[in-house]
Amino acid sequence: MELPFAESWKIKMVEPIRKSTREDREQWLKEAHYNVFQLKAEQVYIDLVTDSGTGAMSNYQWSEMMLGDESYAGASSFYKMKEMINSITGFKYVLPTHQGRAAENVLFTYLVKEGDFIPGNSHFDTTKGHIEFRKAFAIDCTIDEAKDTQLEIPFKGNVDPVKLENCLAEHHNKIPFVIVTITNNTAGGQPVSMENLREVRKIAKKYNKPVLFDSARFAENAYFIKIREAGYADKSIKEICREMFSYADGMTMSAKKDALVNMGGFIATNIEDWYEHAKIFTIINEGYITYGGLSGRDMNALAVGLDENTEFESLETRIKQVEYLAKRLDEFGIPYQRPVGGHAIFVDAPKVLTHVPKEEFPAQTLTVELYLEAGIRGVEIGYLLADRDPVTKENRFGGLDLLRLAIPRRVYTNNHMDVIAVALKNVFDRRKSITRGVEIEWEAPIMRHFTVKLKRL
Ligand SMILES: *Cc1c(COP(=O)(O)O)cnc(C)c1O
Repeated sequence: MELPFAESWKIKMVEPIRKSTREDREQWLKEAHYNVFQLKAEQVYIDLVTDSGTGAMSNYQWSEMMLGDESYAGASSFYKMKEMINSITGFKYVLPTHQGRAAENVLFTYLVKEGDFIPGNSHFDTTKGHIEFRKAFAIDCTIDEAKDTQLEIPFKGNVDPVKLENCLAEHHNKIPFVIVTITNNTAGGQPVSMENLREVRKIAKKYNKPVLFDSARFAENAYFIKIREAGYADKSIKEICREMFSYADGMTMSAKKDALVNMGGFIATNIEDWYEHAKIFTIINEGYITYGGLSGRDMNALAVGLDENTEFESLETRIKQVEYLAKRLDEFGIPYQRPVGGHAIFVDAPKVLTHVPKEEFPAQTLTVELYLEAGIRGVEIGYLLADRDPVTKENRFGGLDLLRLAIPRRVYTNNHMDVIAVALKNVFDRRKSITRGVEIEWEAPIMRHFTVKLKRL
């Protein structure tokens, strides 16, 4: 008999978590204005709000924490991190930042001007925020297939080459760079194929435009290329990463995802001009260029995390757990973005809560119901997150409306996945009785989902 699959690690330290009663949760969520970001973490049993900075570090990472060089300038920890980034990505210039959005802020302060257009594949919310904050426009060129959650294709995160070329042809003198997000978080953690990265490179080159990768989950993207794309089965993850980055001029990175640390980020590039200008904004916003908001120990752990998570076994353990949860949801017939992506399940909320009108935010309503059911905290990636159109000020109902269940790396067991699946099934079973959603009582002008106050209808 073939041995079953199991994790490529064992557990050395545990952290207790606690259940609560439905009455407790009703009270807590009301106090939180039906916004799960406003809950206290201790009011949550299983926390799937994000896979960002919530992973468990390895014994090797923890041992490197003790070896951190906390020198203000020129710390050995910086060079350790820089060399690891050089070897995995091929980019020679590296600027640390405290997290991914800080890398965007630093680089975009130099590159993005009012009235610019930045084509890409479903820009992440902070990326879009940094673009729109500068009165520029994020142009989504994701393939149309990504919108059909039930369609199974291997690389649903891809850029549509025709949309990209149209955008470049129309606005080429107002486009500072093309951005590709790997994996495509907003479209459901969906990978981008090597072929697509190559094609984006070719089109961008035709218009003489640089390519930037938003790389938070680049290692998961490499795993999918190895598993799904012809010609890559025998290549190592590190070889695949090198090829992927060869089609870009630079990257912004949230190290809280695929670099397996609780805090950190960086910019890496081969364009000297970007580096020279970004240096100034790093110093103003983040810190001196050899630490950029990070402790020496953090940079050490980041270097080891990048190395560990560009190994096949590490990625296989992680992605198979996400697939396990997806299979449980299949048993219950719960619709989610298919095929399941790398870091999360994205439940197709309007297909579950068919009786809740879009104006009442079905995915947010499902988020609320799941928390009340079992103390599980997911997050809305939908109409609230989409913010209002900067020109018309109307809610943007054009995209997907999803409940994201993000799985932290190396944190929960498959028993937890079973609890999540059954809790969702219980909500699914009573979906017809859920006819009303939520209404906005107060919202911020940008990135409103973090602080929005809601009323349950
Ligand atoms: C998380 C993330 C960011 C922002 O990074 P932070 O570390 O949260 O600031 C940017 N892009 C993508 C695709 C992300 O997933």
